Amino acid sequence: MRLDRNIKQKVHDPYDEGRKYSEGTYCPECRALYQGGRWKWSRTKDVAGEPCLCSACRRIRDRFPAGEVYLSGSYLHDHRLEILNLVQNIIKEGKERSPLKRVIDFTEDNQEVCVSLTDNHLARHIGEAVYKAYNGELDVKFSEEEKFVRLYWHRDA
Ligand SMILES: [Zn+2]
Repeated sequence: MRLDRNIKQKVHDPYDEGRKYSEGTYCPECRALYQGGRWKWSRTKDVAGEPCLCSACRRIRDRFPAGEVYLSGSYLHDHRLEILNLVQNIIKEGKERSPLKRVIDFTEDNQEVCVSLTDNHLARHIGEAVYKAYNGELDVKFSEEEKFVRLYWHRDA
């Protein structure tokens, strides 16, 4: 048996993130509105378009992140509030800017903090901001095909 290596793998886009919706489509879950070619927060309560779950709400429902950030190290323990405050501010700004930039999970234990997100750019933004502000080490694992990014930030005292 011979395998045909010329078959191009289909780009994996289960969340239709490259898709265009018709104007006025709204998300029944978060009430975001598709306007001018993108999802936006809407001030209006009455919607005329078709309901369709936005990609962020689908990722939240499936708990399937587009990006993850792991923070660890003894420096984190000593500056926990300060660092988490920076992370929370970036998350807040992201969400305000776009309905597609949201948190799926935020977990903390004694070892590390893990944030999973609906948007890979938001994940990069968080990891890079922590690294810029506090140095340490930043390791970025990026999968182009899956549009997925995982960032590990670590700093010991
Ligand atoms: Zn939504």
